Amino acid sequence: MSLDAVIRNGTVATGSDIFQADVAIAGGKVVAIGKDVGTGTREIDARGKYVIPGGIDVHTHLDHHITIYGMAITNVDDFFSGTVAAACGGITTICDYIFQHKGRPVGEAVEEWLPKAKDKAVIDYGFHICITDPSPKALGEIPDLMAEGYASLKAFMCFSGFGLDSNALLQVLQAARESNVLVNIHAEDGPIIDYLTQKLLAEGRTGPENWPKSRPVLTEASATARAIDLAEAVDTPIYIVHLSCRDALQAVQAGRARGLPVYTETRPVYLFLSEERYDLPNREGGKYKCAPPLRHHSHQKALWDGLRSDDIQTVASDNSSWMAADKTDPAKNFLEIPAGVSNLETMLPMVYSEGVGKGRISLSRFVQVMCTNPAKLFGMYPEKGTIAVGSDADIVILDPEKKVTIRAKDMHSRSDYDPYEGFEVQGWPILTMSRGEVICDNGKVTANPGRGRLLKRRKFTGL
Ligand code: MN
Repeated sequence: MSLDAVIRNGTVATGSDIFQADVAIAGGKVVAIGKDVGTGTREIDARGKYVIPGGIDVHTHLDHHITIYGMAITNVDDFFSGTVAAACGGITTICDYIFQHKGRPVGEAVEEWLPKAKDKAVIDYGFHICITDPSPKALGEIPDLMAEGYASLKAFMCFSGFGLDSNALLQVLQAARESNVLVNIHAEDGPIIDYLTQKLLAEGRTGPENWPKSRPVLTEASATARAIDLAEAVDTPIYIVHLSCRDALQAVQAGRARGLPVYTETRPVYLFLSEERYDLPNREGGKYKCAPPLRHHSHQKALWDGLRSDDIQTVASDNSSWMAADKTDPAKNFLEIPAGVSNLETMLPMVYSEGVGKGRISLSRFVQVMCTNPAKLFGMYPEKGTIAVGSDADIVILDPEKKVTIRAKDMHSRSDYDPYEGFEVQGWPILTMSRGEVICDNGKVTANPGRGRLLKRRKFTGL
């Protein structure tokens, strides 16, 4: 067989095994793993390096136009710059979110989102569909969309404009049950948050330091417990996105202890940053606005424990990049500052460095949470999420010795600041391959825009 590439002498790490082997690639697929696999047109030496499946980030927002309290704004990374940043950070697949416009057909939003990615993405991508208005008509569109490969839903429990109350959420959960798909839930309690927000604003407490006060831990814990109860009533699995704190994790653990199919994602900002960032002078705190907010650092240990114990199954970035000026604008109160940070390039190496490098999780667990579990939960396994004969050759070579100090100027996001500026990381992707094509080589991007493919994901079958 003629081989396009052989990755030689590396240590292959999957979610279940770690072994020395050569990996042979042809036609975009892995075709052999072992010794004497033949000679490739391209020979890649991975001696002393880990050879892992490409990372999968199932929570991104690229080229997202949003209206915040009447102000229209678009985040700064589109499907080109965002997926280039991802590729350089060892991510070879993303799932972004399509948002139904309230009162409008879901299919219209799908048509709006597809061109954003089509001629721009350098890695493969799928979409979840966020239901903001579960009218009978919108719910009627769901079975066909799920069958077409947009095989997961999303719902918010907060944010007036697109958040759902319990009655509406039950409708979405029921639709998910009928289509056998997973619902991503943003679990923060809308009514309590709205009450606290109005109180703070009425008192003139408008700066970014008030953001965490408007959405304390209890609002996430109670919404998480409520979401699990609703899903139990409907008898359908759910996936809690970006869990940030011990208290919400306890609600997940209680649900899982009842035998419920509750899955959980956490997010790097909660593992690596904490709430005192909001108190930085000159409104710098706004740079770190995200929902849920950053928490007290004591929650971080619970999140790592959850990742290790399998109460948390995935890490995803919720990447939504902004310029510092948008985040620190003195004219904006804490509600009006756009939420989110740039994180696609830094997530995988930081989780490796702080997780595997510091002994918090094993190398195989790292591969599970960054690659295998997201692929399984969202209908992409085994094409994605592992290194096996027949899988897509989405492969990352990670140098466990390479030290990098994170600097915004070195990152590929269009954002002009990095939330982890100055963080020291040991372990970094030095080569990223997507379907057999080297798309990033030692920080040099070698991929053409538009080479990424829209994934038709399969329905949920468990983890
Ligand atoms: Mn999000």
